[in-house]
Formats: sequence, structure tokens, C-alpha cells
Amino acid sequence: MAKLINGTECARQMREEMKKEIALLKDQHNLIPGLAVVLVGENPSSVSYVNMKEKTCAELGILSRKYKFDADYPEADLLKLITELNRDSAIHGILVQVPLPDHIVEEKVLYAIDPNKDVDGFHPVNVGRMMIGDPGFLPCTPYGIQQLMVRNNIAIENSHVVIVGRSNIVGKPMAMILIQKKKGANATVTVCHTGTKNMAEYTRRADILIVAAGRAHTITADMVKEGAVVIDVGNNRIEDKTKKSGYRFIGDVNFEEVSQKAGAITPVPGGVGPMTITMLMYNTIKSAKIHAGLARWE
Ligand code: NAP
Repeated sequence: MAKLINGTECARQMREEMKKEIALLKDQHNLIPGLAVVLVGENPSSVSYVNMKEKTCAELGILSRKYKFDADYPEADLLKLITELNRDSAIHGILVQVPLPDHIVEEKVLYAIDPNKDVDGFHPVNVGRMMIGDPGFLPCTPYGIQQLMVRNNIAIENSHVVIVGRSNIVGKPMAMILIQKKKGANATVTVCHTGTKNMAEYTRRADILIVAAGRAHTITADMVKEGAVVIDVGNNRIEDKTKKSGYRFIGDVNFEEVSQKAGAITPVPGGVGPMTITMLMYNTIKSAKIHAGLARWE
């Protein structure tokens, strides 16, 4: 049976560390990290993500400012707000919750954010910095996965990592982070997607298999090498009449069978999920310290 990689516990430890750091920043430098979260419309998942972010900010002592608008909020007003937040010295991180309503060009809004306040790491400047290995903000989910592995003593360096999925928020940045000639990286990375022929031939050669396909049961035991580390990013809602809500979430990996063969595996929920918001908080604190001249980009 595989060892469980506990994301909830790892996130809890990181949050404890951050809480202490925030208290020190406040006491010694009168600095309170500030995060602005912008939500347009009522998408239920977005509303729930934004609420979770607000709650985590409160728990850690980060100032959070929520800007919530109706679905018909004009794009020009949103751009004006971003400009104001870019100039606001109490705000060190700006997050615009996506997806945005159809009348708003998402790129226009995301690209208007000051790259030095882009704690989501989606601005092309930060994507470019990540690609060339320069300091900047790393996107929260892949950054969280790297932290989760490092803190669980998983040997990333010199390993063969196979990533399933090439989205701009998980698969591609994950590959970029792990390919760098750096500590906690320096892996040989293979990226699979729907254009990959005979995917199992690649996944079976993975020391570390990271799955972000967005489809339940994409990975079965026959696709995994004995003893491999399996990181399941997937978060798929399935019907479950035994639950009060009528549904539950499962990953992209067939956990029951793969956990019998893998050396270590993340559960869903309680694996990658809790790390994502944790890294958003981490990036916000880092930004506050850099803006205050207390830290340098690294
Ligand atoms: P996405 O934008 O839909 O991308 C999915 C990727 O997987 C695409 O590149 C797609 O290939 C590839 N793919 C899909 N089915 C495949 C298959 N059968 N074989 C090979 N490749 C396949 O999804 P995403 O935003 O990256 O998210 C992936 C999953 O992670 C979702 O379940 C999402 O909810 C979850 N997620 C979780 C967190 C968290 O914090 N826990 C954060 C982000 C995402 P093509 O490019 O060829 O279409």
C-alpha cells in the first residue's frame, strides 16, 4: 500500500509558519500583507473559492479586500479598478477570479495586473520569468505540488517526471518548474496530452507521475510503475447519493487500484487542493516583503 502524501497536513504546517511570520512583520515592521480579490458574477465555484481565500487570509492575519460585482460589470470599470489596485500601497497581491463573464476579455484584465502584484503567477511576464528560471511569482497549484513533494522528501532531482495535461495553470507551468536546473527540480520531464499516442508507455516510465487531466479514472494501475510517486491534481465532481450534498469529489487517478502499486500517492480531497490557497498566501507575503524592501526576489 502506498504512503499517503498528506496535503492537508503540509498546508497546515506552512500556514503555521506563515502566521508566525505575519505576526513578526506586523510587530517589527508595521507591515500587513494585503490581498485584493476581485469577483465578477455569481459562478458558484468562484464564489466558494473566493470565500475560502478570504477565510484563509483572516486565519493568517493577511488583509483581504473583496471586490464583488454583478455579472454585467463593465470591462472598462474593471480595468480602472486594477489600475487603482496596482497603485494601492496596502495591496501586495491582486487576484481576479476566473472565469470572467463573456463580455470581458480575460487576457486584457489579467495582463493589466502589475506583474509585481500578480500573486497568481498568470501574467506573461511571470510566465516568462518562470520559463527562463528568473525570480518571479510561480503559479499556485504547480508551486504547491513542488512544495508538497519537497516537504515530503520526494526525490525530484534526476527523476523522470511524467505530467498528464498541458493547461496553462497546471501542466505547462509544472513542467517549467521541474525542468529548471535548481534544487527541488532538475528532473527529466515528459508532458502527455490528448495528442499523445499510447500514453501508458510514457506513464509507466515515470518515477513521479503528475496527473492534471480533469477526467476521473484517467490513470489505472496498469499505467503506473511499481513504487512510483503519484500526484493527483484532478478534482472531479461525481454524484453520490450517500452524501447530504448529493455529490463528492474524486481525482483523475483510480485511487483504489493505483494506491496498491504506487510508492506514495496524494488523496483527493486532502492532497494537492489545500496547497493551492496556501501558496497564494505565501506569494502574497513574499510580495509584501519585497514591496517593503525586506526581501529580494529569489
Ligand atoms: P484543463 O484546462 O481541462 O486541461 C486538461 C489537460 O489534460 C489538457 O491539456 C488535456 O489535453 C489533458 N487531457 C485530458 N484528458 C486526457 C486524457 N485522457 N489523456 C491525456 N491527456 C488528457 O484542466 P486543468 O485546469 O489543468 O485542471 C486539471 C484538473 O485539475 C481538473 O480536475 C481541475 O479541477 C483540477 N485542478 C485542481 C486544482 C487544485 O488546487 N486542486 C487546481 C487546478 C486544477 P489537451 O490539451 O490535448 O486537450
